[in-house]
Amino acid sequence: MRNPKRFQPSSRKEPAHRLTQCLEEEEPPDLAPGPAQRKKRGPAGSEPSYPPLRVVRPRRDRETRTTHQTFQFRRSFYPGIPDKCWNDWQWQVQNRIRTISQLQRMLQLTAEEIRALEGSETTLPVAVTPYYMSLLSPENSGQALRRTVIPVIDEAIRSAGESEDPLGEEHQSPVPGLVHRYPDRVLLLVLDFCSTYCRYCTRSRVVGRGALFPSRSRLELAFDYIRSHPEIRDVLLSGGDPLTLGDNRLEWILSRLRQIPTVEIIRIGTKIPAVLPQRVTARLTRMLRKYHPLWMSLHFTHPEECTPEAARACAALADSGIPLGSQTVLLRGINDNLEVMKELVHRLLRMRVRPYYLYQCDPILGSAHFRTPVDKGLEIIRGLRGFTSGYAVPTFVVDAPGGGGKVPVMPQTIAGREGMDLLLRNYEDRCFRYPEVVP
Ligand code: SF4
Repeated sequence: MRNPKRFQPSSRKEPAHRLTQCLEEEEPPDLAPGPAQRKKRGPAGSEPSYPPLRVVRPRRDRETRTTHQTFQFRRSFYPGIPDKCWNDWQWQVQNRIRTISQLQRMLQLTAEEIRALEGSETTLPVAVTPYYMSLLSPENSGQALRRTVIPVIDEAIRSAGESEDPLGEEHQSPVPGLVHRYPDRVLLLVLDFCSTYCRYCTRSRVVGRGALFPSRSRLELAFDYIRSHPEIRDVLLSGGDPLTLGDNRLEWILSRLRQIPTVEIIRIGTKIPAVLPQRVTARLTRMLRKYHPLWMSLHFTHPEECTPEAARACAALADSGIPLGSQTVLLRGINDNLEVMKELVHRLLRMRVRPYYLYQCDPILGSAHFRTPVDKGLEIIRGLRGFTSGYAVPTFVVDAPGGGGKVPVMPQTIAGREGMDLLLRNYEDRCFRYPEVVP
């Protein structure tokens, strides 16, 4: 018999007191309908790989632009919740879907999913914002977005070469939560909280466990380290998701970094525009623009994440002068397909986000069902380069296990040399000569 109490990792690992005041852990209101109402969401088994964006505007407010799918989801599961709440990021965080009973109301869970949710092998917490839940297919467990956030029992399978910390970050941390791998830049893990947890997360050993609290004392240690290493000119804030911090806490971090004269640029790594676009408020962007040069690495996985809400969030960030890049993890059965990837990069460019990196999935524990051969990534890059805008082609990288850093992996374009001529292979696999100059 199912025991819903067994599946409460988040409540154990993310005590409310360690989050900002707005991240109180509460159960969503019990507004879910019965099975009859649930059928209103759409015909079963009719999920296209990435449906066309059908935009509806239920109210005049520009912020309520949404897809038909999200509109129907709200009507089914949150009928009494006004736009004011739905569009409030704190409401979204407070009402994340985290328990098996909540998931069962909204999704037809498979036996595999139930086993993973009930079992103790799944150590990464489960949490999905109501907004992101609206993008999941209730019937199709193989839908790309659903596979990224709902665990399956494959997570319990340990394969050769996998480890908790494949990138060796723990060995490159001079102070807690600060990774100094490259000569002139550091990664600062400001907290371990995310609004929605990705099952393939590189830092699944850390996120949602209550180990990295954005406390003043810990962060001051990191600032001291950065200050005492003037060669550090670039600080990447990550986690967890830094944009789940309240505005004041985030501004305190940014302002402290800006007081260090040797820090030239600050970057923020976040999945917020994809999973919690409501977080990008006018107040947030007004605050962020005070700390330029500020860059953002967004995390998009699939074209279905490029909704009107995500586009609005990206536009607000871009309008604030923040250059936006996207990092995408190559995932088996989710986006390891040229057409899906092409659709994603095109939608990203339309949202003013430059596809920056395509990552080979890191060998974290229980990741074999997500990982593809490296050749698959090369095949996708070959299918993009030359066939679409250069801005749409990300750099395919393998983050070298053991702390070797990102290693770009590229299709071979130099075919050889003949005399002084360099032989080049173009995107159509045709050979051309470039006459080199004798020095
Ligand atoms: S948002 Fe980033 S840090 Fe959070 S679970 Fe997903 S991949 Fe990990």
